[in-house]
Amino acid sequence: MARIPQSFIDQLLDRTDIVSIIDLRVSLKKTGREYSACCPFHDENTPSFTVSPTKQFYHCFGCGAHGSAISFLMEYDRLEFRDAVDVLAQAAGMELPEEAVEDAPAGPPREPLYDVLRIADRHYQSALRKSDATIAYLKKRGVSGDMAKRYGLGYAADSWDALTGIIGDKPAAARAGMLIERDSGGYFDRFRNRLMFPIRDTRGRTIAFGGRALGDDKAKYLNSPETPLFHKSDQMYGLYEARQAMRDLPRLLVVEGYMDVIALAQHGFPNAVATLGTATTASHLTTLFRHTQEVVFCFDGDTAGTRAARKAMEVSLPVMRGARRVRFMFMPEGEDPDTLLHSDNGTARMQAAIDEARPASEVLLDGLTEGLDLTTPDGRAQLIERARTPINALPPEAFRAELIGELSQLSRLPSADLRELFATNASARPAHDTPATQKPAARETDSARVTPVTRALSLLLADTALAGQVDHARADLADHDNPGARILAEAIDFFANNPNVAVARWLERYRDNRYFSRLQTLAAQSPPGDDDTRADEFVDAVARLSQQRRSRQTLRERYNALLAQQEHGPLDERAAQELKEVLSQLQGSTG
Ligand SMILES: [Zn+2]
Repeated sequence: MARIPQSFIDQLLDRTDIVSIIDLRVSLKKTGREYSACCPFHDENTPSFTVSPTKQFYHCFGCGAHGSAISFLMEYDRLEFRDAVDVLAQAAGMELPEEAVEDAPAGPPREPLYDVLRIADRHYQSALRKSDATIAYLKKRGVSGDMAKRYGLGYAADSWDALTGIIGDKPAAARAGMLIERDSGGYFDRFRNRLMFPIRDTRGRTIAFGGRALGDDKAKYLNSPETPLFHKSDQMYGLYEARQAMRDLPRLLVVEGYMDVIALAQHGFPNAVATLGTATTASHLTTLFRHTQEVVFCFDGDTAGTRAARKAMEVSLPVMRGARRVRFMFMPEGEDPDTLLHSDNGTARMQAAIDEARPASEVLLDGLTEGLDLTTPDGRAQLIERARTPINALPPEAFRAELIGELSQLSRLPSADLRELFATNASARPAHDTPATQKPAARETDSARVTPVTRALSLLLADTALAGQVDHARADLADHDNPGARILAEAIDFFANNPNVAVARWLERYRDNRYFSRLQTLAAQSPPGDDDTRADEFVDAVARLSQQRRSRQTLRERYNALLAQQEHGPLDERAAQELKEVLSQLQGSTG
């Protein structure tokens, strides 16, 4: 998708007041220079959510939520970035620039794809109304007419060209995964003799289909292939419908199949979603947590179910921030949600299963202690060893503390020792040893160190007028070896040239940067001290960084000089020793 130009985001944030945007949704009270409220992102009775009109930034001291007006809409209204920008633009009376509305020059436009999917959707639904056999099948499966309508169920006839015949833009339909092009030219229908489930994005647009075989086709379920609109590992079936059914989603149930989602909705659980024939990914989880605070996974009670649960646990750990909770529900042997709901007392049994779903900590500890004899020192040592990877994957928050507490009891080691042990191991491990799912958490922990760079950035973001005081150091920082120092140089440059611009506007430039989350955390801080001491500290930190860069510069020059000398003949003992030292200093001090 085409990028929205930075200049447009800049203008938009200039014309937007975060206070009024948030106040429309959460009523704010003025407290000193800031505004506050009870946090909309976690449960609390005393307000720890603050909005700064000068920074144009919100921050919650309770759960750590923070960001710009765009971030707020993404979190609170559960919008994608582009949609959040769209909402703000409408409020500000601005129109998205044409190049952002058009599609990326690299790929063909998407609009025709949505169009053909809309046509297919209507076609399948009207075919269902005329297919007595399919209606009978739905009745047999216990699906009501209401549900068929809410989920837009349809019927793909047992024909090679029922859809092909009514689609004008066949190449677009092929790109949308609905038609298949023949080698000999011409097209045919991908879905034949199937019950059709439209898969919708969070705006309700159909982006793909799932089809269940009605005849004896070997492939019981067939999904649309990956297309420019449809990425299996991001999308969940039923999320749009769940949001339509419930304004607030206290929890989302993750089940395996389309029919499970629909059966649950029909029995009063409209908050179920399903992955689309793939295991749950970190990207699924991130999407789900944008809409709810609690995710309950539903698995079969057999070994395959246990394995799937472990996998889901692994992707959940790195995103367990703030009040987010994950629980696991295991179906009785041989049942799935659909069969359970249609059994005697099905609704009550399902409700009980949800209530009894086990907290992530319990399931995790079960896995960690499995087969260990904790009455022996050896068993307890093995437990600590096994716990290292999952614990280090967790963000340094409540859930991590809770688990360490439990481990402390089981291992008979004090919590403080465990915390230290896990922290040390996290930084001692080489990077290539770290599974992909863990990286964000590990980065978060080690970047939490206070360095001259992070100190200077947090001081500058708290008072952007400081940029004017260190103008001269910009060049030194701009080609510093430390990427943080280069960001600091950009910030100084930005605020020196735009003295009255809010911090949030600068931050938005870094949304796609790997340091974005870290920068947001720094922007949320209010460093202690009065204006003068903070200014001194800032000037001092910047001076130290320039000095650092200059001494590296001197080292590099000396290194080059020694190398040049070496080309004219062997170095004497003293020069050779110096070359070694210069080299080791250059390699050692990249901080
Ligand atoms: Zn909060």
